[in-house]
Amino acid sequence: YVLNGTKQFIAMGAQAKFMTIFARTDKSVPWTEGTSGFMLFPPKEGFEVGRLHDKVGLRLYPQHELIFRDCEFSEEDRLGEENQIHASRRNISNITNIGTLEATSTALGIARRAYELALNYSKERVQGGKPIIEHHLIAMTLLEMFTRLEAARTMMWRSAHSIDNGGSDDPKLPRATKVLAVEALNFITTKAVEIWGGMGVMKEAPIEKLYRDAIQLYHMGNTNQVNMLKAMADL
Ligand SMILES: Cc1cc2nc3c(=O)[nH]c(=O)nc-3n(C[C@H](O)[C@H](O)[C@H](O)COP(=O)(O)OP(=O)(O)OC[C@H]3O[C@@H](n4cnc5c(N)ncnc54)[C@H](O)[C@@H]3O)c2cc1C
Repeated sequence: YVLNGTKQFIAMGAQAKFMTIFARTDKSVPWTEGTSGFMLFPPKEGFEVGRLHDKVGLRLYPQHELIFRDCEFSEEDRLGEENQIHASRRNISNITNIGTLEATSTALGIARRAYELALNYSKERVQGGKPIIEHHLIAMTLLEMFTRLEAARTMMWRSAHSIDNGGSDDPKLPRATKVLAVEALNFITTKAVEIWGGMGVMKEAPIEKLYRDAIQLYHMGNTNQVNMLKAMADL
């Protein structure tokens, strides 16, 4: 096999010592039927790590381009049967579910930090003669943040339980959970920016980083639209 092309946004692409590469091996059929998987142990002739993508958030979690120029792979490098990698993945869908849950738990970690920082700040910051948490609109916002965080966290535990048990009781659950968690996360970080007032957008304060990190989660572990499309198939 001779691979040519460039992959974008690959997490830990410059650091990985082992990679799995999916490549089209039959273009006369749909990609689901004409894609094979290959093992790659860099360095390798014809393989090169390209530029580092300059993201606004999650900046300690790097993504690189991976470039293939007449890069040769043998049959021994191939994972499973030729053209069958997507069929194989369907049989081990729990691996996809675990990846989805990883993104969900990352989302909830950021959301929890943003909620806790907003809660603590609201007890310290005094405006109108009292801590801002004593203003009902602020307390109500905090309660809404708490509610969405706990709803997403509870659903994540439910998904994890399902995956531990083979994932067969409700296959749409992990993807639906990720969609809910990402929406909750971006609601919570936005509200945290509001509650911190002008300090919310200052680089010297911790909130703006969480806000920048949060939008990364829309794309990691598949986009909301793609997760919904796939979950819908299991309705
Ligand atoms: C931080 C980060 C880490 C990443 N890590 C990796 C990695 O390790 N490995 C890897 O392979 N990729 C990785 N990616 C890439 C990521 O998987 C893609 O960015 C993501 O799947 C979206 O693909 P795209 O950027 O091509 O957007 P597009 O596919 O161009 O999507 C653009 C918009 O169209 C929507 N859309 C696309 N198709 C449909 C459809 N059929 N119906 C309705 N709406 C649709 C999308 O939901 C999105 O809103 C990473 C990305 C980020 C941001």
